[in-house]
Amino acid sequence: MRGSSWNESVQPLEWNWPRPEKRRPPLSEAAPSEATPSEATPSEKKIFDLVIRGASVLTPAGPAAREVGVNAGVIAAVEPLGAGLTGRETIELASDETLLPGLVDSHVHINEPGRTDWEGFASATRAAAAGGVTTVVDMPLNSIPPTTTVPHLELKRRAATGQAFVDVGFWGGAIPGNTADLRPLHEEGVFGFKCFLIHSGVDEFPHLETEEMERDLAEIGTFDSLLIVHAEDSRTIEEAPAVPGRHYADFLASRPRAAENTAIAHVIDAARRTGARAHILHLSSAEALPLIAAAKAEGLRITVETCPHYLTLQAEDVPDGATAYKCCPPIREAGNREQLWQGLEDGTIDCIVSDHSPSTLDLKDLDNGDFAVAWGGVSSLQLGLPLIWTEARKRGIPLEKVVGWMSSGPADLVGLAAKGRLAVGADADFAIFAPDEAQVVDVTRLKHKNPITPYDGASLTGVVRRTFLAGAEIDGTTPTGRLLRSHA
Ligand SMILES: [Zn+2]
Repeated sequence: MRGSSWNESVQPLEWNWPRPEKRRPPLSEAAPSEATPSEATPSEKKIFDLVIRGASVLTPAGPAAREVGVNAGVIAAVEPLGAGLTGRETIELASDETLLPGLVDSHVHINEPGRTDWEGFASATRAAAAGGVTTVVDMPLNSIPPTTTVPHLELKRRAATGQAFVDVGFWGGAIPGNTADLRPLHEEGVFGFKCFLIHSGVDEFPHLETEEMERDLAEIGTFDSLLIVHAEDSRTIEEAPAVPGRHYADFLASRPRAAENTAIAHVIDAARRTGARAHILHLSSAEALPLIAAAKAEGLRITVETCPHYLTLQAEDVPDGATAYKCCPPIREAGNREQLWQGLEDGTIDCIVSDHSPSTLDLKDLDNGDFAVAWGGVSSLQLGLPLIWTEARKRGIPLEKVVGWMSSGPADLVGLAAKGRLAVGADADFAIFAPDEAQVVDVTRLKHKNPITPYDGASLTGVVRRTFLAGAEIDGTTPTGRLLRSHA
């Protein structure tokens, strides 16, 4: 069944499952383990809605030849190949395909409402689906209004309704003056709260001073939610040389490692004093890894993510004026990149997420290529898996590790026990991946809204051929994604 991806051309599906939104049960809080009760009577053979079988099916136990049975949008059976599960629909994987759990991306800026010309729910979730990502969690800023109150969250949900091709959750925002809004937002199902320790890039989402961050972290600890922090220290950056212009080296010097290291130390101190859960967003400075490892060893509730651009690109190769590469914190040197890979391998870094943060092309200042002027953000939502897999296999890292960093890792961060793993009781979200197939990135064929990415023209290994949400293939025309709540 190769080559039928809507990523190549949107075509009607060859089969028709019942529309999942009518049949999908609520997400279970329990960890997937027990089989869901059979709908079949004891005298007849159980017939699944869907059976997928093949020589390479990636469960938490590793890849093996298996059959997967799906009922009502949930994985109901995982058996050795040859078990002969019967489905109303059956998919046989091609010999070069691996069935993966749908990936989870907990760091996506969708920007709707308010800056829908930057990105929107339909385009972002189509891009996610085309990249094998079946769950995204939307960042609270760059939309107008930002997600800093319950009414603002309701506006977000209204904007997303009927446009989501994958499941979508929401982060809340912690800004000066909204401490009293945090608990109500938590009760309305946000997955945690984002704050900045430096100017966020948009005026309606101001940053917290270190003391305010600690106060909000203490508040968030009272209901055991999570504070996620853009950790760059504003004072360190004020003291760094800020030279406008086209030279990447000047931009890099304006966002030094020291700014990240200092801010991360503040977050760790605050986590120690409050006992609350904190998460470091988009780690770029490898110098902070020993600090984070020590905090974890001490038993502090600290986690950390990094992103494909820090793991696959390097400052030495960024052309002058190439503002598609601009992001904050910045892409650093090759040696730094290797240390980040080591941080993943030794378990200091918990997960890899995109930080897909698009804007319109003119905000990227393409005519002048001035790094000081251009919007900071890399667009890569659709490419995460082939990007990371291409680099990982060069390093001898197996696919199951890559998938863990990009599925169960982020799912665990946000507490979605039914996401990011191919196991009985989990949601039947899948990607069919061809790990040996080559592709060359063509930005004009990506699904996100504004055609810019630093990966345009890149040669990658690995192609996502088809993506399934709750047991139904995502076709790019019928949005079947749900809006998720934490502790649903
Ligand atoms: Zn971000």
